[in-house]
Amino acid sequence: MNLILMGAPGAGKGTQSAKIAEKWNIPAVSTGDMLRAAVKEGTELGKAAKSFMDAGQLVPDEVVIGIIKDYLSSDKCTNGFILDGFPRSIPQAEALDAMGVKIDAALSLEVADEKIVERMSGRRICSSCGASYHVVYNPPKQADVCNVCASALYTRADDAAETVLNRLSTYHAITEPLKDYYAAKGILICVDGQEDVEDTTACVMKALSKFEA
Ligand code: ADP
Ligand code: ZN
Repeated sequence: MNLILMGAPGAGKGTQSAKIAEKWNIPAVSTGDMLRAAVKEGTELGKAAKSFMDAGQLVPDEVVIGIIKDYLSSDKCTNGFILDGFPRSIPQAEALDAMGVKIDAALSLEVADEKIVERMSGRRICSSCGASYHVVYNPPKQADVCNVCASALYTRADDAAETVLNRLSTYHAITEPLKDYYAAKGILICVDGQEDVEDTTACVMKALSKFEA
């Protein structure tokens, strides 16, 4: 299964993509995670991306398209993949089509803007493995410590309230039109994000069950 996961920032794409990856045994790749890793390492790519990310803007298309091209041509993806956070603009979607990869489904996690703002303020990320938590909706077993690898959790700089509003308006203006793009191809699946992570996962799995072998 070759899957695209869409949705507003903070809709829970990362959490759901990890669950899908586990169940289907396919890799999940997040352009956001890759860019954050590049920023942390201080690579050329990271330097180019940082100011855009901090401002809640999209990183230029050619930068992310390059990353995804490299990733999809690696042999990790032969049994399928989940793209979390790519494509995020029509030119990115067109570039993906031009790479000749067949996308089976584009799943959009639908969450209202006011919920998003509430969620982002409670979001915590593992400094080592990137796992994501929420202080109320998905708390780690021990406060500020990752369940998976026991590293410290942190709050992303771009989860600050003003930046969240920028990211939301960018989402509506530039990313949301992708729903029409994939609806026109007949592969759009919309799932309402629920209050509860597990309930959302159940809805996602049900929506994807038609792809089960
Ligand atoms: P979220 O979905 O919660 O906004 P991500 O971790 O997916 O968070 O992305 C964080 C930031 O990384 C985005 O605000 C943007 O600046 C950059 N980014 C990630 N993916 C892309 C992409 N496909 N195109 C452009 N910028 C991207
Ligand atoms: Zn961790």
